[in-house]
Formats: sequence, C-alpha cells, structure tokens
Amino acid sequence: MPHLGTNGFTRRNVLAAAAGAAGAVATGALVSRSEAAPNDSAAAPDIDLGHVAGEQSSVIEVVLPDRDELDRLVATGVDLDHQVNLVDDRLVVHAVISPNEGATLTAMGFTLGNVIYTPADAKARLAEREATIAGHVAANEEFSASATGRTATASDVKIIRADYYTQGTTMVLSVEAKWAQGQTATDTLTVERDSGKGTAIGSGGTQTISRFVDAGVYLYHRGAAQVTARPDYIRITSPTGGIAVAKVKEWLPTPGHDPEGPGYQKDFITSYLTPTELYDRIKAIAAEHPKLAEIVELPYKTNGYRRKAQAVFGSASASRVAVDSLAWGHEGGNSIAIEIVDPGGAGRPLSVSVTGTDIQVTLASDTAGAVTSTAAEVVAALNASPGASGLIQAYTYRGNTGAGVVAPAARTLLTDDLTAPASVSREPHPVYAIRIGKHRNGSKLGVLAYAQEHAREWVPPLVTIETAERLLRNYKHDWRTRELLDNLDIWIAPSINPDGGHYAFYDDNSQRRNMTNHCAPTGSADFLARDSWGVDNNRNYTEYSRFDGYSGASASCTSDTFSGPSELSEPENKNLDWLAARPNIKFAMNLHSSGNYFMWSPGAYAVPGRISAPRPTLAEESYFWSASSRILTSIKRHRNLAVTPARTGPISDVLYSAAGNSGDMLWYKYDIYAWNFEVGTSFQPEWVEAHDETMEFSNGLVELFRVARDFDKDRRSPKSKLKVSPSPTHGMVSVTFETNEPAAVYYTLDRSAPTYSSTLYGSAGIREGAETLTVRAGTTINWFSVDAAGNVEDDYRPGGHRRNYRTAKAILPRH
Ligand SMILES: [Zn+2]
Repeated sequence: MPHLGTNGFTRRNVLAAAAGAAGAVATGALVSRSEAAPNDSAAAPDIDLGHVAGEQSSVIEVVLPDRDELDRLVATGVDLDHQVNLVDDRLVVHAVISPNEGATLTAMGFTLGNVIYTPADAKARLAEREATIAGHVAANEEFSASATGRTATASDVKIIRADYYTQGTTMVLSVEAKWAQGQTATDTLTVERDSGKGTAIGSGGTQTISRFVDAGVYLYHRGAAQVTARPDYIRITSPTGGIAVAKVKEWLPTPGHDPEGPGYQKDFITSYLTPTELYDRIKAIAAEHPKLAEIVELPYKTNGYRRKAQAVFGSASASRVAVDSLAWGHEGGNSIAIEIVDPGGAGRPLSVSVTGTDIQVTLASDTAGAVTSTAAEVVAALNASPGASGLIQAYTYRGNTGAGVVAPAARTLLTDDLTAPASVSREPHPVYAIRIGKHRNGSKLGVLAYAQEHAREWVPPLVTIETAERLLRNYKHDWRTRELLDNLDIWIAPSINPDGGHYAFYDDNSQRRNMTNHCAPTGSADFLARDSWGVDNNRNYTEYSRFDGYSGASASCTSDTFSGPSELSEPENKNLDWLAARPNIKFAMNLHSSGNYFMWSPGAYAVPGRISAPRPTLAEESYFWSASSRILTSIKRHRNLAVTPARTGPISDVLYSAAGNSGDMLWYKYDIYAWNFEVGTSFQPEWVEAHDETMEFSNGLVELFRVARDFDKDRRSPKSKLKVSPSPTHGMVSVTFETNEPAAVYYTLDRSAPTYSSTLYGSAGIREGAETLTVRAGTTINWFSVDAAGNVEDDYRPGGHRRNYRTAKAILPRH
C-alpha cells in the first residue's frame, strides 16, 4: 500500500489522508502506486550468475560507464557492497563475487577492476580477534596467579584509574580497577572515598563499580558516580580481602560545546562480537541496570543455524544421486553414511541394505558384469527401502530424469558442513532487543536502532552495543544522558539475522543473507548449492518490494539479493515489522556497512523509467536534512571524518534501488523517520579501523536520540515569510515561502481559510529547494506553517473558528 504522510507536519492521525492528497498535487513528484508500479512482468529477468559450490567470494570492483549500466548490474541480482564511487567520470561499485560469477559478469559485458577483500583477509581479522581475546585471558590468568598466596604487598585488586571531574555543578568520580577473580566471579567492587585531603577513607561515602566484559572476556571493573566532595584518595577492598589504594587525579575539562561533557564514559568494545556474544552482552548490561533496561525476546525465532546433512554422488547431472538426511545434521544427520558398491559379478539386482546409520547401495549388473543402475533407479530403491527411507530422502539432480548410470562411490558421511563450535546453538534462534528507558510502558517517544540484517557486516552491531553501554553507564552521573533515558523508550536490536551472522563468522565471511533454503528439490536444494541459499532480509519487507514491481531484488533462490518467496516470509523480517509496529516509535536507524553513507527514503524505484517510490514532501525532506546534519556533525567529532553531502540523501538517489528494504517499510508503512547508516569503509576492517568506526557512528546514534528528544519537547511554533519577486510574465509575480525551521506550509489563493486539505507548498525537484509559485499580482494568499512536531504557526487551529492564519497580498515590495 502506498503511504500517505501522517507525520507531525500533517498533525498525525488527524487529517492525514487529506494532507497526503494535497502533497501529491503540490509537489508533482509524488506518484500514486497505481500509476507508479509496473506489473510483475515488467520486472527484470533473474539471472543465475553461476556460483559454484565451495567457491569463496571476494570483494571486487566493477567499473561502469553510467547509472543505466548500474541498473543493469543491479538487475542481475549480483551481491553489491553498499558503495558507489565516482572515479574519473565512471562509477565504481564493489561486488561480492566468486571467480565463476566474475566470469559470468565479464561475459555479460561488465568490466571488473581491483580485488578489494579476499577470504584470506577475513581469516586475518578472525585471527586478530582470537589473539586479542587470548591476550586478555592470558593477562587475567597471570594476574590471578600472581595474586595467589599474596603477601601484604601483593593485592588481588589493582586500581587502574581514579578520575575526578566536574560537569556543570556536578562532581563526578570515575574509577576503573581490575580484580584477579573478575573473569569468573561476577561481584561488583566497592570503592570507598575520603572527603578531601587529610580526611579519613570512607568519610566521602562509597560507590560500586561493575565488571566490564567484552567478547566473553573480563577486562576490568568500571563505573562513575556523583560525589559531594572532591576525593583525594580511594580504597577498594576486594571480596577476597585484597586491598588497593590510589590517589584521585583531576580529569582535564574539555570545551563546553561537546554534548558529551567531560568524563563521559565510552569505548566499551575491544573486538568483533558474534551474534551469540552480542546477545550475551545486552543480557548482561540489562541485568546490571534492571531499573533502566530489559531484554525483549522478539516474537519470531529464526529458522536456526542448521541444515540437513547432505551429499551428491556422481559427476554428470544425469547420473548424479542427491541425498538429504531427514534429521538435522546436528541431530543425527551428520552420522549417516552411504556407500555405493559395484556388485562384482554378473546379473545382480539393485539392492539397499542398512546397518545402523550406514546405508549400502549395491548396484545392478548385466550379464557381462557391467553396472546398469541409473540415478533414477537408485533414487527409487533408496526411497523404497524401509531402513534407508527412515534416515534419508534421495532425489535426482536438479530435476534431471536421472537416466545416467551411477558410478560406485566410497563410504561417504552426509554432512551439514557447518563449522561453528557447539557453543553456537543449532536450534531456531531467539532474536533479542534491549529496551532502554526509565519508563518502558509505551508512554514515551520510541526510537529504534537495529543492525546486522546483512550477516557479514560486523561493525554495525558493535555500534549498537557501544551505544547501549554509553546510555546505561552514563545515566547516573551525566544529566544529559539521564534526560534521554527518562524521556525516551529506546529499542536496540544488535543482530536481526543471527543465523547468517554465525555463518559469516564460522563458515563463509561473505555471507549476506539468512540461511534458509527456499530452493525447490528440483532446483538448487542439493548439497552442491548449500552455500547459495538464503533470503536477503533487507529485500523481504512490504513496501515498494519486488512483488510490487520495484527494482533491486531477485526472484532467484540462489541470488544474494533474493527477495524471498513473499513479503515478510522470513522470521527476521517479521520481527522487525513487529518492532516497527510499536505505536510510540517515531525515529529509527538501520545500521549497515559500508561506504559512509547516511540515507533515507525513497529506497526503491521501478525500471525502466526510474519511477521512484513517493518522495518525502519539502518539509519532510528538509527535516531529514536538518536532523542529518546534527547526526553527521556528531560522527565527524570523533576523528574529523565527514560523511559527504553526496552520500547523504534518499537511498535511491545516492546509492541504488533496493526493493523491499526495511527503511522504506518503516517510513511508508509506519510513518517513522527512518535513516540508514552505511558504517565505515568495508565489511570487516582491521580492528583499529573498526574501533574508530564504532566510536564515530555511536556518536551519531546517540545524537539521533537527542534529535528525538528535541522533537519530543519541541513546543515552539515555526515562523514563515512570504517572498514576492518579479515574474517574467506580465501581470504576474513569483512567490516563495521561507520558514525558520523545517516546516510544511499549507496555502490558499481563493481567500479561504487554509487547512490541512489546502495546497501543500512543495519542492522544485529532486535535491532542489522550494518551488516558486507564479500568481496574479495582488492575489490574497492565506497560509500557515507547521513543524515536524506538529506545532502550528501562531497557534492557529486549521479548521477552527479563529482566523489567525497568516495572510498577505502578492505585491512586489517597494524599494
Ligand atoms: Zn547491508
């Protein structure tokens, strides 16, 4: 369904439909669905790029002469990184392709460029992560060992930092300390303070600090608290009796314009985190802050990090026999073995015998002793055998009739080919969000952040964790954070697609989709196609999808932009739909990587013709831009790295069409101001870079919460001005409206009182400013403006009795 604007500019839920209709008239850019959507037959054909089983993918440049060629590339269903670069008048995009897919693209006339990232690079990232974790564990063990049998001088607790700072009139003490038992024991540590030079320890009160655990490894205890006097010394006595004393240092104040203020606690991430670790992390921080946070298990479990155990016997399609276990691989499928033997004599019949989980197929032979059993016959014999059919299902290869003679094969174990450790659940996986805020009952303005729709994007989930930590750990001592949490209802879902996420960590680093096989048994459902399955979760939503005729998603079950069999077919997508349907949610951030983009709707267009999903109105667009500049400024503050204007704007303008993406569903279906981050420069950058990206985009995400809070408390009415200038047409004048903040202007030219049904002042065109109206000189113009929060200029009530709207005659100003 096309959406009709129902945000603040139109007084949500009041006159929404009328406003939407007016918008269509005024902007001219808004096209109704019936006109815009071509039927399915017009959608691009789905091409099989020919991913070969076991082939690993690399990130490789594709060099394109123009946007038409980009559209043609997107229409192949190729897996693209979220990057489009203009280099020497040509477009360079990053495709995630295997050698065979690269050959197909080259044959289709596309030009490949440099290789950017290979599976070997991913291995190096994982090795780096493991080394970091191992280093922390070793340091913990060393400390623990040195503290055993301690003497009066060797304590099992040491103070790392004790920083005092002021923030406005608030005095804060921040402490970090390491305890030798911290890896296994979950106790908090108590810090005793003195109340100034020469006073007794304890006279300034106490504070507790809690464990900081990252990637399952204890790092240290940390925490900040408000104090009433500047302490000079602190003391920590560990639960095991170790004692540490430290002098408190003054933290240098930073300039006051920094919204984080001095001593703001951040930097909570030390390595990449798997989905299991992400969920463990939010559970731990929610448990630590029960008054401010809770874990919400979303209503739909995933299909699970699991597959049936499989094998394909033979090499030519006609003689291949494909076999799937009935049980999941981890539930017994992986222990089933099949052997296909030559009878070793003449005139033998085809037979199947089963011993335990060992299946033996003895092939038939003719009078000369040559094997005669065809693939179709072997399949039939296996499925007819009571023993075998209780373990497996056999089928010919990809719908082949199976007339080829089957070759003998050595005993082969069926396998699900999944390599994650047992600590990764094989069951349908719950998807978790952490809900943060003092009042989590729907009464406060809701903001949603979610990451890892795409499995291989390892940095965006870290941004969400870093942000959750910042919110909760700064609440007590930072009034700005407290204001956010006291007034907002924040939902953070660090991994929407945990199955794919686990697969990307343990099996194939270039995995983008979930793991669900939607290929038919007569298609690519067999063992050799196992790493080409899955639905692109960011193409499976309900608005402007492939099913509506929009571009940038594939119908092929082996394409990396596979839309799924129908809208919201996937549990991951149903979960996000559920989240977005929380009625108080008004702002959202969808975190992806990479490319340093910042985008909003529309995110899809139909080809041919590039007919876009409806564009936001002028007022909405200017609100998107003004909020964006705040968020991007916060990002830039970390290391002066700017998201460029060219990479800011509607997805379909600055990137490419992505039919059925989540941002569009949130905006068009739920009226949520929905943005999309494309974090950083690659999916799995070296840790030093990943860390910086996490810090800077967490800055941006926190700023979104501030934007939401400011929206919520905005009671100030907008102000507008009418500008009249000469028109080239005799007797006419040119008229524009200006507003002092992003605001919608509704106007009439027939002296009637303006309402939300009046004409909505529009934009001149894509990424252009406001339109210029041409009216007869002397025309009376009545109007009012309304901002994003719904405040109306001069408190005028459209449709009411008072006539305190703005009014002016369109007359040239005298000089
Ligand atoms: Zn993505």
